[in-house]
Amino acid sequence: MDLVFRARRVVTPQGEIACDVGVIGGKVVAVESHIDSPNVVHLADDEVLLPGLVDTHVHVNDPGRSEWEGFETATRAAAAGGVTTIIDMPLNSVPPTVDVAALELKRKAAASVSVDVGFWGGIVPGNLADLKPLHEAGVFGFKCFLLHSGVDEFPAVTLVELETALRKLATLDALTIVHAEDPHTVRESEPDYAGFLASRPREAENKAIRDVVDLTRRTGARTHVLHLSSSDALSTLGAAKRESLRISAETCPHYLTFTAEEIRDGQTEFKCCPPIREAENREALWRGLRDGVIDLVVSDHSPSTAELKEGDFATAWGGIASLQLGLPAVWTGARERGFHLTDIVRWMATHPARQARLETKGAIEPGKDADLVVFAPDETFVVDRDKLHHRNPVTPYHGRELRGVVRQTWLRGKEVSTTRGKLLRRGEA
Ligand SMILES: [Zn+2]
Repeated sequence: MDLVFRARRVVTPQGEIACDVGVIGGKVVAVESHIDSPNVVHLADDEVLLPGLVDTHVHVNDPGRSEWEGFETATRAAAAGGVTTIIDMPLNSVPPTVDVAALELKRKAAASVSVDVGFWGGIVPGNLADLKPLHEAGVFGFKCFLLHSGVDEFPAVTLVELETALRKLATLDALTIVHAEDPHTVRESEPDYAGFLASRPREAENKAIRDVVDLTRRTGARTHVLHLSSSDALSTLGAAKRESLRISAETCPHYLTFTAEEIRDGQTEFKCCPPIREAENREALWRGLRDGVIDLVVSDHSPSTAELKEGDFATAWGGIASLQLGLPAVWTGARERGFHLTDIVRWMATHPARQARLETKGAIEPGKDADLVVFAPDETFVVDRDKLHHRNPVTPYHGRELRGVVRQTWLRGKEVSTTRGKLLRRGEA
């Protein structure tokens, strides 16, 4: 063995156990009660060994808007937060990742990364012919919007255009991930939070999700609902799953942490789309996770410059940056509701890896990459924006006490500060 991790608590697919984890050549090769080795990393009594998290919803914005975020800062934040794999969204960078030439520019921009990085492609009006080449070039799937994306260079598709794309992608067995808000239900926002919330009502999500379910059924494609906020849509998603449609859903740390009731006018650091809803909605999302209707929790790390986050709820950038904070934020809420670290690992590592078909990520078991996190689940800390590695550390978490501290992050068997991440292609990892 190159290295053995010895811990009283290791989260494995068989549950939380005391064991040794043996690593050779960057891979986990054994999970056993005792492995002899001269190189043992002993975890302290208050530490738990987790698989590195997989965050499939990250906007790095590089190239083109690297003043919002870049690959170096984003991946450093990921590593500090126990995230060892990210998949980058196709928009907010310029150009957006809607053809192979743009994907190659992304790969160049990501020359220096601290964790492993993969890429989503995009579906926009007119790029149907680019989907197969992008798929073959190694994107993990395709994102589309049903309403204005927030940036003009990544236009929305109509349901007719989406259906055409889904039929094509079904033949490739490629995944389509959808920003599901209905353009005809969303209205112009008011400057205050109540007005913003009313402008993007639950029905906008509910309607769009009914449409996506319908298209999934008609085309046989694999689809995924991004950043679910409306708990009303859980019944639609639950029924689609009982019907064995190939659809999955995610929610994000901010929908599980914050409530509309606590957001005051002017606190635009809380602005995101779809919006953070009422406390009762938040509890229903937790039930959706408990029931398995929501499959995964990923950050939707969507930063901008601090200036663009200023103003009011009609004009400020809609996006919350939380790549470094997702694990403690979700663990804090999960623990209060009686969940365990095995649940966190399922939602934030195993299921995201499965969604992107990252065969070597998302669990501690033989054959997987030795992407490991030493986590102190009982230690608390107060979020200080100055300690975040995000390029623009504007955050609604500032000043909040969270539970769970990432003490070490290991990538393919090396402590993360001593190694580099690599660029992942679908099918290779
Ligand atoms: Zn997003």
